[in-house]
Amino acid sequence: MSTLRPPAAPSTPKWFYAFGNGTAEGDGARKDLLGGKGAGLADMTRAGIPVPPGFTITTEACRHYYAHGQELPDGFEDGQRATLAALEAAIGKKLGDPQDPLLVSVRSGAMISMPGMMDTILNLGLNDRAVTGLALRTENPRFAWDCYRRFLQMFGCVVLDIGKDEFERPLEALRKKRRAKTDADLGPEDLKALVTAFKKTIKTLSGREFPQDPLTQLRLARDAVFRSWMSDRAVTYRRLAKIPDDLGTAVTVQAMVFGNLGETSATGVGFTRDPSTGENTFYGEYLTNAQGEDVVAGIRTPHPIQDLEKELPGAFRKLREITRRLETHYKDVQDFEFTIQDGELFLLQTRTGKRAGAAAVKIAVDMVDEGLITQEEAVLRVTPDSLEQLLHRRVDPDTAARPIAEGLAASPGAAVGRAVFTADDAEKWAERGEKVVLVRRETVPDDIHGMVAAQGILTATGGSTSHAAVVARGMGKCCVAGASEVRVDERGKCFMVGGRTIKQGDVISLDGARGLVFEGAVRTLEPALTPEFARFLSWADAVRRLKVRANADVPKDARKAREFGAEGIGLCRTEHMFFAEERLPVVVDMIFAASETRALERAHEAAQRELERGGRGREHAARAEQAKRLHKELVATRKRYEGALATLLPFQRSDFKGLFEVMDGFGVTIRTLDPPLHEFLPKRETLIREVSELKGQIAVLTAGTPTRRTKDRRKNALAAAHAPSVTALQRRLAARMKLLSRVEELHEFNPMLGHRGCRLGITYPEVTAMQVRAILEAAVAVTKKGKTVLPEIMIPLVGHVNELVRQAEVVHATAERVFAKAGMRVPYQVGTMIEVPRAALTAGEIALAADFFSFGTNDLTQMTFGYSRDDSGKFLPIYLDSKILPLDPFVAIDPVGVGRLVRLAVDEGRAAKPGLKIGICGEHGGEPSSVEFCHEAGLDYVSCSPFRVPIARLAAAQAALRERNGA
Ligand code: ADP
Ligand code: MG
Ligand code: MG
Repeated sequence: MSTLRPPAAPSTPKWFYAFGNGTAEGDGARKDLLGGKGAGLADMTRAGIPVPPGFTITTEACRHYYAHGQELPDGFEDGQRATLAALEAAIGKKLGDPQDPLLVSVRSGAMISMPGMMDTILNLGLNDRAVTGLALRTENPRFAWDCYRRFLQMFGCVVLDIGKDEFERPLEALRKKRRAKTDADLGPEDLKALVTAFKKTIKTLSGREFPQDPLTQLRLARDAVFRSWMSDRAVTYRRLAKIPDDLGTAVTVQAMVFGNLGETSATGVGFTRDPSTGENTFYGEYLTNAQGEDVVAGIRTPHPIQDLEKELPGAFRKLREITRRLETHYKDVQDFEFTIQDGELFLLQTRTGKRAGAAAVKIAVDMVDEGLITQEEAVLRVTPDSLEQLLHRRVDPDTAARPIAEGLAASPGAAVGRAVFTADDAEKWAERGEKVVLVRRETVPDDIHGMVAAQGILTATGGSTSHAAVVARGMGKCCVAGASEVRVDERGKCFMVGGRTIKQGDVISLDGARGLVFEGAVRTLEPALTPEFARFLSWADAVRRLKVRANADVPKDARKAREFGAEGIGLCRTEHMFFAEERLPVVVDMIFAASETRALERAHEAAQRELERGGRGREHAARAEQAKRLHKELVATRKRYEGALATLLPFQRSDFKGLFEVMDGFGVTIRTLDPPLHEFLPKRETLIREVSELKGQIAVLTAGTPTRRTKDRRKNALAAAHAPSVTALQRRLAARMKLLSRVEELHEFNPMLGHRGCRLGITYPEVTAMQVRAILEAAVAVTKKGKTVLPEIMIPLVGHVNELVRQAEVVHATAERVFAKAGMRVPYQVGTMIEVPRAALTAGEIALAADFFSFGTNDLTQMTFGYSRDDSGKFLPIYLDSKILPLDPFVAIDPVGVGRLVRLAVDEGRAAKPGLKIGICGEHGGEPSSVEFCHEAGLDYVSCSPFRVPIARLAAAQAALRERNGA
């Protein structure tokens, strides 16, 4: 006989973590399991900070809920009941007790905070009997009924999906009837009547009675909070903030404390430092006799927290002391929630405060100076993307424009755009390419898509911690909140201020740094580095390995780039110099002359060969005549070609001189002509239309041309009157047709894969030679002025080493001519872009002919994926939505595919030529995750647009630190 051993109990995860009365089961570091809120509550409890007791249901339970068709595991409800019973015992009150009921809140809380995007329910546990118990017990019927109506309202909206308006409308009607300014002015009988009405609304609209049983309420509320994880606005927010969808939310069930017990009670939120400017000042707002959401909802405009010092000094002092401790403990700005119940302070939440970009830098710098964090911690603290706001334009503080309204400077920056009044309109207008400013009485979480689409946000009510303000700061959008003189008529789509009306579509401007609203567009200024920002970036520079260059085509951009700390130019696109108005006709002429020269050369050669075959007589003479004519034509065309090149040369030379002067001592990579030629030419379709229109006009007019047969004198007279214009039209037609036929000759079916890049330089080496001559003559001239010039000539679109070899020959031959004439030499390099997959795959061969590589990741991405970037708008959004692709590969480098080609080219290039200098000059060079990739791949530098240089400097530093910290 064998003894049967019981099977090992499957290790069931722990679903519930209790906290309260100084002890907590949860670990504050486990935000992934407890959510930010649960983790913060556990930490605070353990630190002896007054926190109402409760328990947190883990995010794991939420993930289970979604993984199992919205079911929770066996035994879960029993576990929850036991945990609740322990809480009830600790407090000495029971949920639903008709004498002295316990009320709880059921709160959402994710690992990464998503302010206001998910749901919370307050005052749960009330029912028809408990409410009278609460009224008796507190001797405050007004309070009890206020709690009950709030609970019904939240339960109706969150659990039963009833529209907010269904409750707000009767509430507002009642306020009007009672001439009450706020809910706080409604009496107990009013609130009791509302409760009856709300229960009826719930019954009618959800088809079920409001559940009186507290445990049922709790179950339903918990599941509704789980479901709010997948609400549209939460999903949108996560997409924007790049938060994964599979983290899930925790649910915290917590005993209520009441800020609505009268004038010695209050509720509020705050930040330990100003999240808009970073100033080290206590920042926040509160309302007396109010509950939770009242402050953020923006319905009543709350008081600045400084007033609390006068109103409830004891609670204020304690709050200041606790929040200081929290900041020191977390070593970062805290965003906290508190409630004062009859003079007694409770903390309800603490989390890392979201801040505007400028504030992030200031706070990091200040905290280093205060000895709270190290310089390296400071560098890791600021997200590179948030710097973008510091690099935005700002309203000229000396603008003569007079503001039409003033509100709170809720989030810095400038916004100029057309006023729109709903989030949907904002989105629609923005899709049409309009810049819009979203104007609302207050924003609600459902407005998120409109806030994304808008340049800035203006609200009439709500404070600096209102939803609009918090979300705008998180997004880096300019926001003016609580501009109380502004009367917003959302239905009429306009707003009134100081006697004027601004209608939908009218242009307004916001100054988020000063909280000002202007009519029309005001002048904005380019950003500049503040000394503080520069200091912060110098810490980043001290740790990064990757160099940062800028893409700049003209001296003005190069200067900006230097100002922002660029260490050279990684890409100068010479063709951008060609688009200037006075140059374009010369460029067009050069293109036609170049292609005609090649055609005539071929024709002349063929004729010459014919001639050499010998012969006599008339036929031979005709051939000789033909060859002679072709030769003459060729000479003339060649002259035109050379003339055009000679005209362009000084333009180019002076552009390059400017760049070299600005970049004294730094490398300047100049790319030879790259785009398909049609980009410079008139549009073929336009020409076809013009030709047919001209033909039509001429046909109409010549229908009346006098002919021998026409005897009609009137008709003849008419035609005669038009005769001069007909000839003019005909001349015009001939010119257009000639142009069209030339354009047709250069027409390509797939120009992106056609005659462009080094293929142009190989067919028209004269163009390469002209460009090289301009570069090196400029280099000589600037060197003579005593500056250090480091020209790097870059050949685009190489796919075969021979292409590079041929172009390099042209470069070297030209260089020798320039140097011989100048009587001096300037060191220069010849390198290539790696942007065709074949170039990456044969990088070992190509390296032998190159002084440097620069990855052109735009083309490399196009050709690796086979997507035309210009046409990808039709399918990429769908790919991203349905998660076929995790990220837009034109924004963030695709590390798996394109990245593999990059790595391969780096390895094989350096194996063939140790120490080969390698950089990247695509759009990706300023995108933080791509910068990190470049760091890991061992590149020497990234190059990006001048305004992104600070972002790249920081991203490069963070990559180096993360690598060192082994993260
Ligand atoms: P959110 O994440 O949207 O801020 P919260 O769960 O923090 O949602 O709750 C919303 C509001 O209700 C906050 O102001 C919070 O302070 C308040 N609140 C939550 N739980 C309680 C409670 N137990 N007692 C009093 N107020 C509470
Ligand atoms: Mg909160
Ligand atoms: Mg390219």
